[in-house]
Amino acid sequence: MFYLLKCFIQMKTLLNKIDLNEALFGVSNLGFVPTMGSLHQGHISLIKNSKKQCKKTIVSIFVNPTQFNNKKDYTKYPKNKKKDLSILKKLKVDFVFLPNINDIYNFKRKIKIHKKDKILCAKYRKGHFEGVLNVMNRLLSIVKSKCVYMGEKDFQQYMLIKRILGKKYKINIVGCPTIRENNKIALSTRNKLLNKSYIKKASKIAIKLDKLKKLSKMNKFVDLSKYKVELENKFKIKIDYLEFRDEKKMKLDNFKSKYRLFIAYHINGVRLIDNF
Ligand code: AMP
Repeated sequence: MFYLLKCFIQMKTLLNKIDLNEALFGVSNLGFVPTMGSLHQGHISLIKNSKKQCKKTIVSIFVNPTQFNNKKDYTKYPKNKKKDLSILKKLKVDFVFLPNINDIYNFKRKIKIHKKDKILCAKYRKGHFEGVLNVMNRLLSIVKSKCVYMGEKDFQQYMLIKRILGKKYKINIVGCPTIRENNKIALSTRNKLLNKSYIKKASKIAIKLDKLKKLSKMNKFVDLSKYKVELENKFKIKIDYLEFRDEKKMKLDNFKSKYRLFIAYHINGVRLIDNF
């Protein structure tokens, strides 16, 4: 009896599309958390939201090669399948999907992004969002969920997926708040590539940007071009962009609607993104 009960609640690991279709047959009210693994509290918060709001939860782990515009970046991306599976088991996730590359890249049709969307990371990481949208298009066509949980840490990604794929698949794309360390750094798999002294710098940058956002909310003029140079010199970083944009249309310096301060920068060869 105990054995039967244990089987009933055990997480199912799905290694291909056939396993997936079989396991998800008849499952409604499914929440989906797509990830690239090396799970941290940011991912865990998405999973907890899904578990709270949906009857069943599926997490995928797939390091998508097509969204890396740099081969070295792809090969050094941290991977830790064993630890990930133990975290997911402890969280009592219902299904984990570990697709192989042939399950995902088995059709040619591609999604392209509009010229007007080529801002922020779309401008500085050529082909990145095409890679993200194409893998998500394939995942959503096989994992037929009701809701998809995504982090606001990657706000531009969340908005593009919501607008383009949320509509196409009639899926609710749920944005979840950014989880930060006590030192204000947004949790990210890429933080694992930085040593203590760089983490300290990244923390100071996050604290500064949080302050700048607060200043702007007090209707104070914040000269971002000045702060960009200041931060680059002080912390020896290279900033791709530092911009205020509104949440809905991602328009530059639109302070009339809800807005965020977006940054992407390179620190010791690692590219970090964040928004406040
Ligand atoms: P990744 O594994 O980096 O592709 O991320 C998978 C999902 O986790 C994406 O929807 C991310 O936006 C989300 N995520 C990553 N870091 C955080 C964070 N610090 N807080 C909340 N969500 C996050």
